[in-house]
Amino acid sequence: MLDHHVGKFTEQSQLIKEIASGLEVFWDNPSYSPAEEANRYTKYSIKDIEDAEERLQRFAPYIKIAFPETEESNGIIESEIIEITAMKKWLNEINDKNVEGNLWLKRDDMLPISGTIKARGAIYEVLKHAETIALEQGLLKSIEEDYSVFSSKEFRDFFAKRHIAVGTTGNLGISVGRMGSKLGFNVTVHMSVEAKQWKKDYLRSKGVRVIEHETNFSKAVEQGRVESNANPNSYFVDDEHSEELFLGYTVGGYRMKKQLEDKGIIVDENHPLFVYLPCGIGGSPSGITFGLKQAFGDNVHCIFAEPTKMPSMLLGLESKLYDEISVEEIGLGGITVADGLAVPRTSGLVAKLMHNYFSAGYSLKDETFRRLLWNLYDKESVFLEPAAVAGLAGPHKLLVSKEGQNYLKKNNLENKLHQATHIAWATGGSMVPDDNREVFLEEGKAVSEQLAKF
Ligand SMILES: *Cc1c(COP(=O)(O)O)cnc(C)c1O
Repeated sequence: MLDHHVGKFTEQSQLIKEIASGLEVFWDNPSYSPAEEANRYTKYSIKDIEDAEERLQRFAPYIKIAFPETEESNGIIESEIIEITAMKKWLNEINDKNVEGNLWLKRDDMLPISGTIKARGAIYEVLKHAETIALEQGLLKSIEEDYSVFSSKEFRDFFAKRHIAVGTTGNLGISVGRMGSKLGFNVTVHMSVEAKQWKKDYLRSKGVRVIEHETNFSKAVEQGRVESNANPNSYFVDDEHSEELFLGYTVGGYRMKKQLEDKGIIVDENHPLFVYLPCGIGGSPSGITFGLKQAFGDNVHCIFAEPTKMPSMLLGLESKLYDEISVEEIGLGGITVADGLAVPRTSGLVAKLMHNYFSAGYSLKDETFRRLLWNLYDKESVFLEPAAVAGLAGPHKLLVSKEGQNYLKKNNLENKLHQATHIAWATGGSMVPDDNREVFLEEGKAVSEQLAKF
């Protein structure tokens, strides 16, 4: 980190100057385009989402056998939405501003198998890889076969000769580790410095090889990639470049169409939908956003949320350097309470792709994460891990900030807000052990008592 570097970027942009000073910001994306136009700039389309959905359907009979907790959903990995009126009331009070419309929470913290949004992307990528090699080697005759065969000894023995590796701040490792080892693969997880002890213990108890790195996420991924690439029998789930992770996540966004219909929630020109997504490397918010855009077009507004210490997507988009800049180059980084978002450098693949689809982004201080965590628990009896609460600040960031108001004005949304639906995407938490929960709750409660207002 060199000082002249910091100066170079902060002179270029007022926003980068604010980010570099650790302020909470709201950013109105200057490249945001109508969905139809944005769709012309990308090679992905609704066909890719349908292909991913069909693959997940093919694997459902196997998932149902391998993970009995998916019995009820017939092997489909999906989550509910719940309305959170008591939390909305508290947010309104603390911000001195009423959010019109309704506030909902998307419960990816309750996703089966790994209890985080990673279950969408990572499990999809591992399944796709398993399917690809099983077809190549003639073990699976065609995609018409009943995929229950993946639970047979023959398939497990076949995968037991192969490796899967991944670099992670923790949660991606849990999803890849659980799915990969269930199929029979030898799984190696490279954990960055943030990774919580319980995640390492948990994976080891499932027979996964865990390598602990003293370095940040970008470096742990790099080391994992080098080790995996040296072994021709090893497949690397690459969070920095993975198309498959992205496609797995898109399904979650697209499925919202039916889920909202089933709840009687209208989304159209006069009933806008705002979705707030916690963002680390950018894979999950990008995939979900792409799916939402294919489902709702210009009637959905997707906004990503990052920690003030690691606003890697904001920095990548604002500087237009994408993955060629790290937050360390503007003097940020270090440890954040939102460990699931502790990514210093965004994904080049998704940052470039999503450029025109994201409406906006914002950043939150560690103390804000802690307060949201405690108050959600206090008001709604829902415990989320710190990263997962980031979306809850979204509606007020949008309504209160100058940049947010500017976005609403430009897009003719000001008169429609009373008919709006806001969804905060809760990205994880159900697997956090009790003693860790206690610590987060106590810290959150203490910060909340010190600070009356935002
Ligand atoms: C990984 C993660 C995110 C962000 O997903 P990215 O693909 O890294 O942007 C958000 N919340 C939780 C709990 C996560 O584990």
